[in-house]
Amino acid sequence: MLFGEFDRAIAEARRAVELDPLSLIINADLAEGYFYQRRYDEAIEQFRRTLEIVAQVNQDAVVPNEFSVLHSIELNLNPRGEGDLEPGCLAKLDLVLASFHFPLRLKDDQTGRYLAALRNPVVHILGHPRGRIYNYRAGLSADWSRVFAEASSLDKAVEIDCFPDRQDLNVELLKLARAAGTRVSLGTDAHHPWQLAFIEFGLAAAWQAKLPPERVVNFMTMAEIRRWISGLRRQP
Ligand SMILES: [Zn+2]
Repeated sequence: MLFGEFDRAIAEARRAVELDPLSLIINADLAEGYFYQRRYDEAIEQFRRTLEIVAQVNQDAVVPNEFSVLHSIELNLNPRGEGDLEPGCLAKLDLVLASFHFPLRLKDDQTGRYLAALRNPVVHILGHPRGRIYNYRAGLSADWSRVFAEASSLDKAVEIDCFPDRQDLNVELLKLARAAGTRVSLGTDAHHPWQLAFIEFGLAAAWQAKLPPERVVNFMTMAEIRRWISGLRRQP
């Protein structure tokens, strides 16, 4: 998406949809373009169409249930740990990863906001927990053992954002997560298909921290993931 040049970006995305009508990334990108241009009706329609394609892809899988695309989202959280989307629309998704994007340059302890985020019933995975980016932002501080203990007791997961300049969580914090028995989910934060290869940085960190494979969300079967999420949704 070309920020600031939305007319051009939308025209390019529409052309890309013509060339590759079943691409989930291109279809979602076009919807995002409409959203940023405040063409909300078209954005809703395009997001709806993208979700229909997910259903179609899952239905057309060569071996049924062998390959499935999950409906998911990265939900933006405010410092009180609240998401900026209605819980009703999130309930239709298979999985909700939620992250803080602002403010991320505070120096004082932020344990409270992490505990609030984990206690938010719509949140399943806490994304790029520290908000750290190499040479750009140091990331937030917290009593991480307490955060991971809370995640474990609620059976929620914390993320390794595998993007090289993020590495968030890092090996040191992953060792604390391992000690607390917390589930960990690996995500690439990819904005282009070639960046999916960054998963290897996260795998290396998980290996160095000696995370047990059964606590890694990416190693769960689809049935296990669905059971885990429906268990979380049944929590009072
Ligand atoms: Zn994010």
